[in-house]
Amino acid sequence: MNPTVYLDNAATTPLEPRVLDAMLPFLKGVRGNPSSLHGPGGAAREAIEEARERVARLTGASPEEVVFTSGGTEADNLALFGLARAAPEGKRHLVVSRIEHAAVREAARRLEREGFEVAWLGVDPDGVVDPAELEASLREDTAFASVMWANNEVGSVQPVEELARLCVGRGVPFHTDAVQAAGREELDVSEVSVSTLAISAHKFYGPQGAGALFVRDGVELDPLVYGGGQEGGLRSGTEDVAGIVGLGVAALLAKEEFSERVEKERALREGIISGLASVPGVHLNGHRNHRLSGNVHVSVDGAEAESLVLMLDARGIAIGKGAACSSSGHKASPALKAMGKNDDAAFSAIRISVGKDNTADDVDAFLAAFTRTVEQLRAMSPV
Ligand code: PLP
Repeated sequence: MNPTVYLDNAATTPLEPRVLDAMLPFLKGVRGNPSSLHGPGGAAREAIEEARERVARLTGASPEEVVFTSGGTEADNLALFGLARAAPEGKRHLVVSRIEHAAVREAARRLEREGFEVAWLGVDPDGVVDPAELEASLREDTAFASVMWANNEVGSVQPVEELARLCVGRGVPFHTDAVQAAGREELDVSEVSVSTLAISAHKFYGPQGAGALFVRDGVELDPLVYGGGQEGGLRSGTEDVAGIVGLGVAALLAKEEFSERVEKERALREGIISGLASVPGVHLNGHRNHRLSGNVHVSVDGAEAESLVLMLDARGIAIGKGAACSSSGHKASPALKAMGKNDDAAFSAIRISVGKDNTADDVDAFLAAFTRTVEQLRAMSPV
């Protein structure tokens, strides 16, 4: 059932065995409710607080600034709706980049339908936001700005430090979606003045369905979910203890093994990029240097992305088409459009994302299968 070579780590990463081992005791037998006063409840509470400290260490936050959520999507939604609803009266203007993941983009579109005015920030051809453009778009009535730390499709890393400084200097809260960046970029909220920051465990070898939102002390946020007042009232509901424990251990390992993982991914990524350079008609998208350690994103002349992904899958190689989270709809990705790519480039775009468990043999296997598959597709193509 497992593909031989898994190169879709930006969609989700394999669950790290050390993470699974830490989660299992919280999935078996008596597992206390962290709000209960007895021993099992106390053990669950203690495990959650330990995880909170670990997530705080990964991001440079204080533990009190970490709110656990059901993943990246919920963390982004909590930030956008939370900031919009808590904004002082009259602040009805939002600044959001055009390359955001659907978790931010669709939340912003919903706010637009509720009467907020959204300034959609463009990007350069490499998929990078221009700080001057962001600065020019800020207004007296701007409720918040949102620009992701690194893009999930083309992997471009944004100048978040500067963007956050510009916003916060003007009294405008700044949200960043760091779901792809966590574990691959140094996230230090003591250095970068973001107001809120979203992460998701399954992008760094933790469980799917667990994430967190960093909320800087003093930043006002309305909850999305009302109930028993867990997570400081920002996320009611009995906690997913096993998921949170898994997120905590994944965060701990991401911090401890950061350099080793990133260096390995970069080397594999460069191997793929240079291998692809010898196949004619393959174009790298995204910034050449300011890009996520594991990301390769290319448009392939004369090959349709969906066919490429399926034919490679049949050869035991799993890669992604465009963005994993929006791969069901046949629409050109808004991020690629914002970068000025035409439909041909968008519909022939694939993403190969390496992770800590990949090897040089995986790269060789991919390159060989890719070359063969592209030749076949081009031979069938009428163009
Ligand atoms: N934001 C980005 C940049 C992502 O890549 C993803 C998932 O692909 C998400 C948010 C959503 O996270 P989750 O899958 O945990 O809901």
